[in-house]
Amino acid sequence: MNEAKFIRSGKAKEIYQRPNGDIIFVFTDRVTAFDGLKKAEYQHKGAICCKLSCFWFEKLQAEGIPTHYKEYLPPNMLVAEEVSILPVEVIARNYLYGSLWKRYNAGELVIEDEVLGPGERSAGMPLTRSFLEFTTKFERIDRPVTDDEIIGSGWMAEGELAHVKEETIRIGAILRSYLIQRGIILADFKLEYGRSRRGDIVLADEVGTPDVCRFWDKDAYEQELNFISLDKDVFRQGKGDLSEVYREVCTRILG
Ligand code: ADP
Ligand code: MG
Repeated sequence: MNEAKFIRSGKAKEIYQRPNGDIIFVFTDRVTAFDGLKKAEYQHKGAICCKLSCFWFEKLQAEGIPTHYKEYLPPNMLVAEEVSILPVEVIARNYLYGSLWKRYNAGELVIEDEVLGPGERSAGMPLTRSFLEFTTKFERIDRPVTDDEIIGSGWMAEGELAHVKEETIRIGAILRSYLIQRGIILADFKLEYGRSRRGDIVLADEVGTPDVCRFWDKDAYEQELNFISLDKDVFRQGKGDLSEVYREVCTRILG
């Protein structure tokens, strides 16, 4: 860490760079919500998100998914290859919930019948396959963007966009099947991708943490359609002690 130079502070991480160009992320205990309007700190939160990210990056790499990940420096640092972050992030949803439900219910968004499946549509129902959305990343308030805007703005080539979608589905399937065995439903998740110096697109930032995923307790959902949050919603909605919830998630995932 000595030889690394401080670059900048993000909302949750501090960013340093080694002389060889590698990035060191220091995961802090900071938590923010509502575009940074609500802020707090919770003990061990940084170390938990860092450890979980490293666990998932190693698992995904073992499955052949290219990522920026290089090394875990316990307890709360992650070394990564520097990439140029794409200006859109991907949100993949497996359930009709949160802002997706709100927009759908208000008639602002059309979701294909095939994705919704048969029967009555209600908040929290599972989708038949993942529903992907892209949102801007470098605007003051992030907003959803269409495929046409992504390609038209030159943010990604058509082939790259298709690749990012496929990769996101693959990543989601890997996370989901592992998590369900640990009593966690992956309701939705966010990914960031970047362009490496070689020009290829790799998974970047953090993955599979309760900061960037919506996790629900499986038993409560299946037995009584009760949504017990195991993620940052606990902070957004003031539903309890984030440190305790994050510790529980970490124990379930890593054992
Ligand atoms: P933010 O306030 O943007 O959420 P974070 O606290 O999450 O920031 O810090 C991580 C920042 O570093 C994010 O802006 C993310 O896009 C960026 N980033 C992630 N991975 C890489 C990488 N490999 N190279 C360069 N920047 C990255
Ligand atoms: Mg972030």
